[in-house]
Amino acid sequence: MKSSAINPDAAVAAIFGDPVGHSKSPAMHNAAYAALGMNRRYVAFRVRSENLAAALGAIHPLGIIGVNLTVPHKEAAARLIKDLSGEARMLGAVNCVVNRRGALRGDNTDARGLERDLRDLGCELRGRLAIVIGAGGGAASSVLACLRLGAGRVVIANRTAARAVALARRFSAKSIVRGAIEARGLDALRDSELLADARLIVNATSMGLTTGRFARLDYSSTAGDCLFYDLIYSREPTAFIKPAIAAGRRAVDGAGMLVNQGELAFKLFNRVAPPAGVMRAALFNELGRARA
Ligand code: NAP
Repeated sequence: MKSSAINPDAAVAAIFGDPVGHSKSPAMHNAAYAALGMNRRYVAFRVRSENLAAALGAIHPLGIIGVNLTVPHKEAAARLIKDLSGEARMLGAVNCVVNRRGALRGDNTDARGLERDLRDLGCELRGRLAIVIGAGGGAASSVLACLRLGAGRVVIANRTAARAVALARRFSAKSIVRGAIEARGLDALRDSELLADARLIVNATSMGLTTGRFARLDYSSTAGDCLFYDLIYSREPTAFIKPAIAAGRRAVDGAGMLVNQGELAFKLFNRVAPPAGVMRAALFNELGRARA
């Protein structure tokens, strides 16, 4: 079968988002289908928030095998889908929906995607401090990844401090939590004592995405082995990691997390793992760069 041929029997997987045109998921998933010679296609649908329930309801009638969800649908989907994995329920967010013969199952592969990337980067967090900036779905996944890596203390720093408090409470109420979780405002990013202790600082906000500017952060107070990780990924170094690199710190963006969550979703949708490296190569080809 020619990989570019559109076959009427092709099964379809998709991503729902708004906006969605920038998504790299179609390139990653279609590269894996082509490599496996599978008669399947992955397409992007721009779905407005008011149409999310109808779009989810159309998954089975249209024979769609699985759907990824991106901004702004992850948290709304967790309220709309009844059957949730334990992880999706804990995070209050769904990033993939699997069609099991008409029964929709909501799951979340973001935390596992980040955890795997941090392990690959050799980030040793056991007993150490991690600072997570943000309090949305990406931040929740980041907190979970840090806890799974054995962080002794996680500080959630967010513009709206009340949201950081709510996220910290959500984790503190779960039995998986062993490390201490604290909530702060963005003033934490200028707290030199706190910064000096951090082994990992994660940006899980959309700061810098459109403006190219990040909040004031005292990079020079951090330890030499502090890893800066931005969930945002782009061709050029992001507004969060550029000053970290200038300060001589190790800094990476979220491309590795994106590949990992995509590989996990591919396996959930297709019941077969993508060939190693294929989705990663497709992403970096789209981004026009090698891994930072
Ligand atoms: P979200 O739920 O909408 O949360 C957005 C966060 O950004 C909130 O904490 C918000 O603070 C903060 N924020 C937005 N604008 C700000 C500003 N001007 N100043 C200070 N804080 C600001 O978004 P999300 O789903 O968690 O996603 C966050 C980022 O992670 C996005 O850029 C997304 O693309 C990325 N992401 C990447 C991956 C990956 O695979 N690499 C996976 C998931 C998410 P307030 O609470 O004060 O509004």
